[in-house]
Amino acid sequence: LFDAIIVGSGPAGTFCASELRGRNVLVVDVGFRPARIPDLGGNLYDLRRSRPDMFDDLIGSDFEGLHNTHRNNVSLKLKSPGTAYVIRDWEKLSPIVSSSFEGMMSFAQGGLANVWGAGVYRFNSADLEGFPLGAEELAPYYDSLTEHIGVSGTNDDLVPYFGADSGLMPPVRITRFAEDLLRQYEKKRQAFKVQGITMGLPRLAV
Ligand SMILES: Cc1cc2nc3c(=O)[nH]c(=O)nc-3n(C[C@H](O)[C@H](O)[C@H](O)COP(=O)(O)OP(=O)(O)OC[C@H]3O[C@@H](n4cnc5c(N)ncnc54)[C@H](O)[C@@H]3O)c2cc1C
Repeated sequence: LFDAIIVGSGPAGTFCASELRGRNVLVVDVGFRPARIPDLGGNLYDLRRSRPDMFDDLIGSDFEGLHNTHRNNVSLKLKSPGTAYVIRDWEKLSPIVSSSFEGMMSFAQGGLANVWGAGVYRFNSADLEGFPLGAEELAPYYDSLTEHIGVSGTNDDLVPYFGADSGLMPPVRITRFAEDLLRQYEKKRQAFKVQGITMGLPRLAV
């Protein structure tokens, strides 16, 4: 009936589906969706001007979106009433038992990428040591993904850590403070290097 059935519509599942385009593909997902918060479309500036109070929608009437209330070890991004659905019920549906790390899972349509920071970094050879695939074998797939989603950034001093990307879009504008910091770094690159400090621009899927 189907050439392939993909379980999960997070970044991994959607890119698999994209690579299989043209075939008969079914993507299934548990698919939790956000609670409908009325009139919360558009940009924040317009929203702030048009709505007197967004506390309940963004922070929550029980302060659940704030740090150190309710659950500590969860990113603030995942606590707000509009985003809490992303990790809804994960401990019940797929508990992780570990004494060495704390994990979390998503059963939301689109997965954890609903709240991600859009930072996109390639695994390099050091990261992949002992793994059956090397950085060079992965490079064509990273290149294809870079072209597909559009990654802004530049090949700067961070290349040894993040890998060299081809087909990057121009880097995003950074704040004046960050610009100044980078300028100072570039002037004293050698001194920073001795201290083991390297700086550069982020690679962002925007
Ligand atoms: C706050 C935050 C910020 C992040 N920022 C970044 C960042 O800047 N850069 C970066 O690279 N990564 C970031 N990440 C991590 C990134 O979001 C995840 O690595 C990525 O989403 C994993 O993709 P995935 O497709 O493997 O899994 P997921 O995104 O977890 O998707 C899994 C999907 O499978 C579905 N599913 C699972 N089990 C079943 C089942 N049995 N039946 C049906 N459906 C199922 C789920 O509903 C979900 O849709 C961030 C994560 C968080 C939480």
